[in-house]
Amino acid sequence: ATQFARPFNEITGVWAQIMAAASAARRIFDLMEVPPETSDEVGRILRDVRGNVEFRNVDFSYDPNRPLIQNFNLQAKAGQKIAIVGPTGAGKSTIINLLMRYYDVDAGAIYIDGVDIREVRRDALRTQFAMVLQETWSFDGTVRENIAYGKEDATEEEIRQAAKRAYADGFIRRLSHGYDTLIQESGGILSGGQRQLLTIARAMLLDPPMLILDEATSSIDTLTEQNITKAFNKLMEGRTSFIIAHRLSTIRGADTILVMDKGAVVEQGSHGELMEKQGFYYRLYMSQFEQE
Ligand code: ADP
Repeated sequence: ATQFARPFNEITGVWAQIMAAASAARRIFDLMEVPPETSDEVGRILRDVRGNVEFRNVDFSYDPNRPLIQNFNLQAKAGQKIAIVGPTGAGKSTIINLLMRYYDVDAGAIYIDGVDIREVRRDALRTQFAMVLQETWSFDGTVRENIAYGKEDATEEEIRQAAKRAYADGFIRRLSHGYDTLIQESGGILSGGQRQLLTIARAMLLDPPMLILDEATSSIDTLTEQNITKAFNKLMEGRTSFIIAHRLSTIRGADTILVMDKGAVVEQGSHGELMEKQGFYYRLYMSQFEQE
């Protein structure tokens, strides 16, 4: 497998991040001291992306001696929610790695609005996505600067609108200096949930046609959690969303659920369809349901 920079599932801690604007991505890679990706200076730029995504007969392995993804197929229409579930090591992050071109497929192809993504410059490709990962991320600066990360030319009005749509405006205005409050890389005065809301506001501001969401598993205080759920739902409206899903509410609301195990899609369908089957998903769901 050919690897480009850092794959999605190796980005952890403060680097777990939304990477939408090309400038933002470049800055992150600078900070990570990863060699810049130079091999795709040529290539197409995607314009007016609607967000139709197709994986067609995709094969991929990190190690040629250990086949992982084999003949993977997925069609996501613009605006649909695709939940990916399955045990650790099933290949969920790998699907995202391929979609974002942290790795290229070994066989088959991935298309966005009918364009093979290997024809597209990687920076131009990644500008079409916002990533909201479990590990939130902030830097030393004001709340305003943290929201505008990746879109530094945003107006005050745009920043506030994004924060409102992310249900973050309320808590921000209650901070000692509102949008001018200084926060730290580690998050400092903000709770985990508040940092999530800031990350969602950042994605709102970038306003890309597609999303990668890695839901938090850890529970946060109920009120913030309700806001996060609402903010996520609003963020996903009208955007093709790929969600590594842990919450039952998200999974139930998805247009398609991919159930993965050992690199393969073992089941695929809506919640209702999969429950009716009483197979792998049904058992996974029932065991989670009992725990909650
Ligand atoms: P999930 O996201 O469902 O937990 P992953 O896609 O991260 O699963 O992993 C699928 C398989 O690929 C696992 O066996 C994992 O060990 C392996 N794997 C993941 N990333 C790499 C990598 N960068 N190099 C080699 N093997 C990897």
